[in-house]
Amino acid sequence: MASMLELVTRNFFGKKKVRLYPIEKERDAYERSRGRIVLNPSACILCSICAKKCPADAITVDRKDGKWELNAFRCIICGECVTACPKKAITMSNERRHSASSHIIETHKVEPPKPAAPKAPAPAAAAPKPQAAEGSKAEASATIEAVKPEA
Ligand code: SF4
Ligand code: SF4
Repeated sequence: MASMLELVTRNFFGKKKVRLYPIEKERDAYERSRGRIVLNPSACILCSICAKKCPADAITVDRKDGKWELNAFRCIICGECVTACPKKAITMSNERRHSASSHIIETHKVEPPKPAAPKAPAPAAAAPKPQAAEGSKAEASATIEAVKPEA
């Protein structure tokens, strides 16, 4: 009983182990915490690789309308899309998304990549090289034969 009383007194008057959120400031995120994913629309080329790799089916890419969407309620913050994006357009932020009572659909307008300019016509085929004279053909085969080991 005495030890219990001592424990209660120590906890009551000692340094608090928890914060009185939201009265007190929220703890800062750890540097490598997985908080949420962030898209850089200017780097995105709407290739859909992130959507195909996402195990939670949280990303939708509409190339025709230039739209990249994230269903934040589906995202499990696994980071697969961050690794898969060939343009490094998605990054992982250590800041957490605040709680919400309805689905968060994050929509980004993305400028669809412009179609590649048509290639310039190839220059006219080079004129065929003049046939080597019979003598020089013989010389060439002779050179090859010269490197063959003796039978
Ligand atoms: S972090 Fe994972 S679950 Fe979230 S969108 Fe990317 S691939 Fe999908
Ligand atoms: S975010 Fe990356 S992987 Fe996803 S569509 Fe854009 S460029 Fe492709």
